[in-house]
Amino acid sequence: MKKVSLKLKSSLSPVSTMVRDPNNSLKIFISLLIVTIFIILSGGCLGTDLQNGPQSDFIIACTIPPQEEFIRAITGNEEVSVLVMVPQGASPHTFEPTPSQIAALEKADLYLSLGSGIEFENRWLSRIQNQYPKLPIVNTSKNVHFLPASHDSHDAQDMTDLIHENGNTERNDPHVWVSLRNAALIINESCGAISGIRPEMKNSFEINRDVYLRKLSDLDNTILQSLKDRSSQTILVYHPAFGYLCRDYNLTQLAVEENGQEPSAQKLAEIVTRAKEEGIEYVFTEPESSTREAETLAREINGTIILISPLASDYLENMHRVAQKISGTL
Ligand SMILES: [Zn+2]
Repeated sequence: MKKVSLKLKSSLSPVSTMVRDPNNSLKIFISLLIVTIFIILSGGCLGTDLQNGPQSDFIIACTIPPQEEFIRAITGNEEVSVLVMVPQGASPHTFEPTPSQIAALEKADLYLSLGSGIEFENRWLSRIQNQYPKLPIVNTSKNVHFLPASHDSHDAQDMTDLIHENGNTERNDPHVWVSLRNAALIINESCGAISGIRPEMKNSFEINRDVYLRKLSDLDNTILQSLKDRSSQTILVYHPAFGYLCRDYNLTQLAVEENGQEPSAQKLAEIVTRAKEEGIEYVFTEPESSTREAETLAREINGTIILISPLASDYLENMHRVAQKISGTL
């Protein structure tokens, strides 16, 4: 406080000489006192946050924003710092981490990976493991039944059978988290891994997990109901991120991109024909990617684009929004 009054005295002296009325100068003095105290206090808080870095010494790293909601749902009131490697708005297909992000992993207790063959993890997980050999990296999709990448989901069962028969390890659809049922499996694995680091908290983590799993299952039922009486079964998406969601609700994903590539003119023409035949008026596209091509396609079919993000950090709310947009357009 001593510092505050000293500062005020020097900054006030020119003002008080200009103001004749002693009442006025008192008001000005009090206003300036309040402003100065506020500036000093807020500056102090900011300084503390910047200096201390993560508030907790329990640090869990993961790949994409929806996983932060899973981790926080499990850990509940336990103080935990979550390092999300691919930040909100970036694409896990193309994002490259900064050196400071990699350096921050030095203090991490655990890395929860998606384990679905998403490019960020393909490129970076082994490098991270080499740099930090003691960091446990746990694959949270161990129990997920993968779909093959980039195909129309009505063929899913055939393709999956084919993979089992041939032992073929063709590329999986990496968008595992875009399914409430897969999310439940991912959360189970995550809970086991987190409990392994803090075994004394296992019970409360499992209670928290079960509360969140109930929310997932309630939303799953709500979506099932909302999609029950639809007239069409096909959704046209630019980027094929919704294969697992379509599997869950017996929808067909008609995707424009294939293996991250722009479609050929012939494929595009086929898509336009099919969309017109099936009366599709909407092109779903993501805020994380360019919408220019999707807009061109929408014009071709006399339709409009609808933005949905599979990567939003408010996972449960976002999945509800995604389902509402889909059911509203079928
Ligand atoms: Zn994607």
